[in-house]
Amino acid sequence: MGDMREKLKDRLGERARYKGTFEKYGVKSSYKGWPKVTILLTEVRSVSSNRLITDHLWFNETKGFQEIGPLYPGDIVAFDGRVKPYEKGYVSERNEIDTRETDYKLSHPTKIVIINYSKSHLEYKKGLKTFYSTCPQCGYHNALEADTCRRCSYRFNVLKTLRDDLEKIWSKETSQDPKNWTLEKPSYGQCYVTALLVCHVLGGELLRCDQGDGAIHYWNRLPIFKKYSPLVDPEQEVDLTSDQFGLIPPRAPDLEGKVRKNPNWNNKRYLILLRRYEDLHKPKKSYNQKKLF
Ligand SMILES: [Zn+2]
Repeated sequence: MGDMREKLKDRLGERARYKGTFEKYGVKSSYKGWPKVTILLTEVRSVSSNRLITDHLWFNETKGFQEIGPLYPGDIVAFDGRVKPYEKGYVSERNEIDTRETDYKLSHPTKIVIINYSKSHLEYKKGLKTFYSTCPQCGYHNALEADTCRRCSYRFNVLKTLRDDLEKIWSKETSQDPKNWTLEKPSYGQCYVTALLVCHVLGGELLRCDQGDGAIHYWNRLPIFKKYSPLVDPEQEVDLTSDQFGLIPPRAPDLEGKVRKNPNWNNKRYLILLRRYEDLHKPKKSYNQKKLF
């Protein structure tokens, strides 16, 4: 690889047209906010001579890349770029380590276009196959099987995970009718505290309705996620305790849900539920090997 990068050195400062094969997206840590999205191109060649310039290069996902994306593995991308040196490796004076060396990259890619669509991209265009789990929160194109966004940690199966968690922490102490609460129907009497917890974890609004007999039922409307994913209903209503009503719908259809403003975050039962939820998600102690000297 070093030899190939040397070829880039020969072209220092030169602005020319290159092409490369998209392999995958990546992330790299960022000074603040979510990690930055990176793009791996392999087999980077000069367009004019077809000469191999380097076997791989990582790019930041600049606006130009965003505008043509998403890219699919195997897509061939052409762009204008300039060869620039950069320093890689790190230095630690304390440990007398210095791995710094100069390498070369193609900077400021512009006029980016896909010149050859891969099979997977064509299948996607025809609507035959989807290839990514695009994050509704940050837009990162995750692997299809991802549970969690690699970039912003959004949990794709967040509602199922939350329901599973609730089943571990609901109890008669958190039910509004502790005498009739049983393990067989753990969501019984838990609607208010559950809706508060959903609000706490995911944001959005608390909805309520009178069920006709004076009893109030609560559920949630999730926040409107950003534009990135067509998979998320922008006004998704979620009722994680609806099963307590058996087959009967949790709210009479003629009674419209109303937003409950300023809910009571100091509700005793909610505070118990919240504490248990936080205990469940406490970071596990890690025992890093301590330095011996
Ligand atoms: Zn994300």
